[in-house]
Amino acid sequence: MIPFSPPKIYQEIIDEVVDTLKSGWITTGPKTKKLEQNLIEYTGAQKVICLNSATIGMELLLRWFGVKEGDEVILPAYTYCATANVVLHCGAKPIMVDINDDFNIDINAVKSKITSRTKAIIPVDIGGYPCDYEELNKLIRSEEIHPLFKAENEEQKKLGRILLMSDAAHSLGAKYQGKSVGSSADATVFSFHAVKNLTTAEGGAAALNLPSPFDNEEIYKQLNIKSLHGQSKDALAKTTGNWRYDVSEAGYKANMTDILASLGLVELEHYDKETIPRRKAIFDQYIKAFESEKWAELPTYKSDDKESSYHLFMLRIKGIEEAQRDAIIDEIFKQEVSVNVHFQPLPLLSLYKGLGYQMEDYPNAFHQYQREISLPVYYDLSDEHVATVVAAVKSAVKKVLNK
Ligand SMILES: *Cc1c(COP(=O)(O)O)cnc(C)c1O
Repeated sequence: MIPFSPPKIYQEIIDEVVDTLKSGWITTGPKTKKLEQNLIEYTGAQKVICLNSATIGMELLLRWFGVKEGDEVILPAYTYCATANVVLHCGAKPIMVDINDDFNIDINAVKSKITSRTKAIIPVDIGGYPCDYEELNKLIRSEEIHPLFKAENEEQKKLGRILLMSDAAHSLGAKYQGKSVGSSADATVFSFHAVKNLTTAEGGAAALNLPSPFDNEEIYKQLNIKSLHGQSKDALAKTTGNWRYDVSEAGYKANMTDILASLGLVELEHYDKETIPRRKAIFDQYIKAFESEKWAELPTYKSDDKESSYHLFMLRIKGIEEAQRDAIIDEIFKQEVSVNVHFQPLPLLSLYKGLGYQMEDYPNAFHQYQREISLPVYYDLSDEHVATVVAAVKSAVKKVLNK
């Protein structure tokens, strides 16, 4: 069976983890701090905090900005549930909007949903392809939209506008206007979950780029405290004889451990040299294999000012319905190839349906979803494997559609 996305475990990763295990310090410590530093260098962000997931990174930022009951946060209907759930955790209302044909959030739809209750927008770089950050940044600062913002606390007064927080769970290493994703929004949150391009098994990081007069160093400290029960010192800081600490708020338990940071440190070393180039090569092979098929609609992964991180190869089959897509997937699995669907638009899921979201309100999200099949992309997927996947997809399509 060709799996969908197993991790690449280099011997160096194993050695680095063993080194940590033997070091006498296994939770948040020097390796986590080093990974944060390396991610600053890699993304160009002003500050990075590593955490135990992207989900908690997004939630801590919304909490830091004081998002609460009565507030609205705009996000695409086409995303993983985490993007909406963090808004619900804060007691605020997720305002879902439709997407473009590249799977990313539709900026005109965003604009039409902004009200005086809007506190944040969470664009999602689906599949690793960056959203239109320049347009989003312009929109929230525009004469029409800017005055709608109602600041209700110190942070909101300081920013004076809607917070732009990118869900970049897929897009570490993607390029936007020549720069690495991580500095195009106020905050950019990456995931290091097991299926993501760079993984620490579970983990995530928030890259901070709040404009002045914010001090990102200060926000980093505040987020650190929020990630550790509101404690004024972490375990490492308490080892220096300075044991007394205070608790200032009911924070969370969301820190990254040095064991997991060890994986991240080694993977980041390999990321631009091997991980991204191999993923790109697999994308290129898929494109070449499918571009002559009339039924195939290929994903956008490059444009003048954007380049994907090659996270998901989101193939679409033209003109099919959900049941046909599912039948094609069954046929592909029968040929020992794992594929996936990214994503079921949130209004299809019980939670959001129960909250009143209706799929009819996001027609393009449904249109893309019902035709979508994500193909395997991972470092150890050989050219022969790629050929096997291609053959399986082609024969499955042929069988189901008689094409
Ligand atoms: C994986 C993913 C997340 C959540 O990441 P975690 O690190 O598992 O919390 C958020 N958004 C999207 C789009 C994802 O795919």
